[in-house]
Amino acid sequence: MNHLFEEASYVLEKIEENGYKAYFVGGCVRDYCLNRPIKDIDIASSAKPEAIQKIFPKTIPVGIEHGTVIVRHNHVSYEVTTFRKEDKYEDYRRPSKVWFVSELEEDLSRRDFTCNAMAMDRNFKLIDPFQGREDLKKHQIRTVGDPDKRFSEDPLRLMRAFRFKSVYSMAIETNTEAAIITHSALLKKISTERITAEFIKLLAGEQAGDALARMKSCGIFPYLPYPLEEKNKGTFLSFNWNTLKSEEQRWAAVIVLSKVEDAREFLKKWKLPNRVIHSVLDILSAFHIEHWTRMDLYRSGLNTALSGLLLKCLVYSESYREQAFNLKQLAAGIPIASREDIPLNGEEVLRIKQAAPGVWVGQLFKEMEEAIVEGTLSLSEQEINDWVRRWEQK
Ligand code: ATP
Ligand code: MG
Repeated sequence: MNHLFEEASYVLEKIEENGYKAYFVGGCVRDYCLNRPIKDIDIASSAKPEAIQKIFPKTIPVGIEHGTVIVRHNHVSYEVTTFRKEDKYEDYRRPSKVWFVSELEEDLSRRDFTCNAMAMDRNFKLIDPFQGREDLKKHQIRTVGDPDKRFSEDPLRLMRAFRFKSVYSMAIETNTEAAIITHSALLKKISTERITAEFIKLLAGEQAGDALARMKSCGIFPYLPYPLEEKNKGTFLSFNWNTLKSEEQRWAAVIVLSKVEDAREFLKKWKLPNRVIHSVLDILSAFHIEHWTRMDLYRSGLNTALSGLLLKCLVYSESYREQAFNLKQLAAGIPIASREDIPLNGEEVLRIKQAAPGVWVGQLFKEMEEAIVEGTLSLSEQEINDWVRRWEQK
């Protein structure tokens, strides 16, 4: 038995001991059926949050108004949510009222796709009223119920369909895809953060290229936070996304393969954190460097340089190994990683020069750093002291 489920069984057992029903639901059941690693375990239960809080000594009230409490057991979190059914979607987007019903099937019926609408009891018996298992076997993504209705209720599901297609190498079922095409413009109503979160997962999936190509043909591209356009037809599809190792590399690839004029603007439109924006822009700078000097490499850092190189090799179908080896060799010859590694501080410089502090100290360190990186000055104390003595402001 999967170790995670074994631990989680205790939680189900405890809830049942108190007279309620409880099941594993959603992503963990899907991943279990697919024999994939389980990330986190979600539980649906007939118990209300207050009851769950009474049963377990350690709980975190993360979303009581949605019926969700986190149960901590053996240092692991389990999201326990009361069976839910939403009433009519008045504005076709947001549930106007949520009430709790003691029925698993109704809970499952409000989930997005059949593969996500399965439950499992603690004896691993599958409860699968919408034939999710069958769809998984067919590698098919299908909405639970009428696709037009389901996409209108929550257009984020449009993005989720492509995310699951990419991550699980599935095809989108014909009627589901037809509804996606009909409702593509509804994506405008969804917050950028939610779209971005799904898109990041899509890019990391094993079939990102297929998913992107399909998104394009379904007319989704114009409604993304920054409308996507391929630079050349078919580049998203044929690009080897799987070779990329980080989110930042993937964003850099999207930019290089698309008609993006201002990369910073593009990344801001997707509301990415500044940390990510900076890394992507650094990778793009590295991507554009043709001949690396020691100083280029010192400034960008080896990892960023290798990311830029990897992207370049994928875009222009060049071989990575030899060029990466050369970059690593070049990096190995650079004796310092940052100014901190220079074995001399400002005070010592002032003492050697017998001079008052001023902007010249910064200038001296900048030139010394360059000399060390270029290899014209070694790290020996004697040599550095002599170099400082000889240094004159230009
Ligand atoms: P992951 O492995 O990435 O966490 P997941 O399937 O668990 O994938 P979540 O976003 O964590 O995805 O959602 C948990 C479950 O909640 C889903 O499996 C699905 O049953 C349901 N769900 C999530 N988002 C929606 C939605 N927009 N509409 C309907 N059901 C949803
Ligand atoms: Mg999940």
